[in-house]
Amino acid sequence: MYVCGPTVYQRAHIGNARPFVVFSWLRNWLRETGYEATFVHNVTDVNDKIYDAAPGRSAQLARDATNWYLEDTADLGLGTPDEMPFATDSMPEIVALIEELVAAGYAYPVDGDVYFRVARFPEYGKLSGQRPDRVEEQEPNPLKEDPRDFALWKANKPEEDTWWDSPWGRGRPGWHIECSAMAEKTLGPEFWIHGGGLDLVFPHHENEIAQSRSVGRPFARIWMHNGMLELGGDEMHKSVGNDVSLRNVLDTWGREATLVYFLTGHWHGPIDFSDTAMQAASARADGFREVFRNPHVAAPADAWNRFAAALDDDFNTPAAIAVMHEWRDHALLRRALGVFGLESLAEEEEAPAAVVELAERRQAARAARDFDEADRLREELEAAGWEARDAPGGYRLVRRP
Ligand SMILES: [Zn+2]
Repeated sequence: MYVCGPTVYQRAHIGNARPFVVFSWLRNWLRETGYEATFVHNVTDVNDKIYDAAPGRSAQLARDATNWYLEDTADLGLGTPDEMPFATDSMPEIVALIEELVAAGYAYPVDGDVYFRVARFPEYGKLSGQRPDRVEEQEPNPLKEDPRDFALWKANKPEEDTWWDSPWGRGRPGWHIECSAMAEKTLGPEFWIHGGGLDLVFPHHENEIAQSRSVGRPFARIWMHNGMLELGGDEMHKSVGNDVSLRNVLDTWGREATLVYFLTGHWHGPIDFSDTAMQAASARADGFREVFRNPHVAAPADAWNRFAAALDDDFNTPAAIAVMHEWRDHALLRRALGVFGLESLAEEEEAPAAVVELAERRQAARAARDFDEADRLREELEAAGWEARDAPGGYRLVRRP
């Protein structure tokens, strides 16, 4: 799987986390069902957005923002992609592919830029359903043969602090050719799944197909585009205010609620991001935790197959999570949670020493029949976010939802 990764110029938005989450889970599920799966997720570290965000110091911003992305996605607890190619590490492959396109007549240099000749590729527009005669202009330049033609290479401009030498002079690649070259470099000329957000269908993925298929690479067999996050207004997500970065959502709601939130939406549909949705996700996470505090009840023999059938049917996570909520079977639920990086919901959080001390004092008060003191200590425990539940041999400390 090749899944378009971040353009590194700012902290990732919660919506940018969706492809990372969905395709990390898909990798887990493919492996669980016996496939060999490789998840490639690129880093676009040369791009107009980075030059615009940090004129004269784009390279430093790209390094910083790459680190933020790695830190924030690591905190999701889903592991890392198997390969993360960087555009800046792929210049020989990018330049070679452009040279091949020029030699085959699919691209032409103009004044230090190189453009793809859209009219030469009849399949153009098939993926996105755009009619080739109606494709809007992507990169205006009066020197282009056709307004639909898009840039493969761009001549260096004075405010751009990074450049590479090429047969067309000093410059840097266009965004689309980076992905064609990095996908081939990591997965070869043909591979199974190409993923990314729905906003990338046109022009990004349409252009990747044109660049790779015109010169004989079969390229991706399946395209998977995840739906977008719908943010509504600020009043919809007061908890995070206007900072809808993945970082802030993780700090505010925690990793588990964030993952459960993504599970509740079908990957190809839109999903609302709101306090209501996050509260619901948090409550569902608590529901799973609660199962492990209660006795194990073996699930019927076909339980796992029902869960698997939901995921095998277009990776329907809302249907899969509905099946999981029916289970009181600890082993089965732990295994299913593991597919989504949520096995931690099966582990009881260990109470800090101060909380244990409160609980011990409460036990002693109850033993001495000092119920007022025991009540007071119970309230103190609750204020600290814990609950002491009666259990064989005394009590058990449980985090309050
Ligand atoms: Zn891409």
